[in-house]
Amino acid sequence: MSVDASNSVAFQEQPITQLLVKVAARCNIDCSYCYWFRDAAVYDKPKLMSAEVLQQLLLRLEQHVARYSLVDFPVILHGGEPLLWGVDNFHRFAEACEGVTSRTGCEIPIAVTTNGVLIDDQWLDCFEARNISVAISIDGPAHIHDAHRKTFQGTGTHAAVERAARMLVSRDIGVIALAVCNPAYTPQEYADFFAACGIANYDIMIPDATVDEKPSSIAPFYNGLFDLWLEANRTTPTSNVRIISDMVAALIGNNAPTEGVGHKPVELCTVMTDGTVEAHDVLRIAGDGFTNTRFNIFDHAIDDVRNEPRWKAARDASVNLCEKCRQCKFMNACGGGYLPHRFSRKNGFDNPSVYCDDLYSMFENMQSVLERHLYVRKQDGERIGVRSAAAGG
Ligand code: SF4
Ligand code: SF4
Repeated sequence: MSVDASNSVAFQEQPITQLLVKVAARCNIDCSYCYWFRDAAVYDKPKLMSAEVLQQLLLRLEQHVARYSLVDFPVILHGGEPLLWGVDNFHRFAEACEGVTSRTGCEIPIAVTTNGVLIDDQWLDCFEARNISVAISIDGPAHIHDAHRKTFQGTGTHAAVERAARMLVSRDIGVIALAVCNPAYTPQEYADFFAACGIANYDIMIPDATVDEKPSSIAPFYNGLFDLWLEANRTTPTSNVRIISDMVAALIGNNAPTEGVGHKPVELCTVMTDGTVEAHDVLRIAGDGFTNTRFNIFDHAIDDVRNEPRWKAARDASVNLCEKCRQCKFMNACGGGYLPHRFSRKNGFDNPSVYCDDLYSMFENMQSVLERHLYVRKQDGERIGVRSAAAGG
């Protein structure tokens, strides 16, 4: 991607603010759409993070938060399937992070993203005791989930994952369900399932695809999901659908917390099981070894990754948008779409999202609905619709 001065957008440099840690490089199930195993380079990594790498990681982590006087440094434990690392290692890691907090004053919230199959009472005790929040991957009801998320023997995993999800919500554990959208089904099917499980906090993520692919249209699904979200929260907040609340936040000019929505730099740092440091994990969608760097936590501080060409290229690509996106009225809210969805073999990241038409239609739909619902309060207390306010009413 060519980035000239006029094309370049200035975002303030800041230290790495969160860490994705791959504690296991293998998985115990076999999802058909998994981006992780699209990259054969992951098989070169150790299956699990060793005690030696963990110790070095903790050292670098403490150096990092102390050097930049961070008050908050979230860590996401990831895989493959991170629970393969074992419950004792989770306790060890969380306890060590508590030590870092007591010495530096920096909070280190720990989250884990899991397929849930291994969750049992011992894991629940660990999550609860260590205040580890859990994102569980479950694609709504069984007929949707089991189409893609299977065991290595080809059977569905839904029953095991639903059981785990219900166990999680029965305890004092922060839980979010992560589903991947299958636009062949309705958002109502997902919403009904999550409501039946007692899960009020969930995301339905856009399926991963690059510009070289031709994924199905997703706008009708997300427009329907937006209607459901609006209805569920009309009087009091009852359900948080992350992608919808993020898109609404971005549309009204706020910073969306997740990286797939809004125009902002992608600055994630991924530590692999062997201590190597990589660019954005999901960029491995672009193929073998795409995220590899020469950096590792034994020779480098965490923030050194900012000088790594591949990491910088991904970071720059996340903020320097293609011509079409720069002209788009939703540029700030959309940000060109999720970075991996902008990749093509021909142009790198210099493309609008493969879902551009859908995203445009989703934002347009949201905007027109919100304009009917939002109001501003005049100095005399009168409430007027934003449309009238914009027209000078
Ligand atoms: S659970 Fe996650 S890592 Fe494992 S196969 Fe499925 S998508 Fe891949
Ligand atoms: S809607 Fe399309 S053109 Fe507009 S910012 Fe998003 S990807 Fe770019």
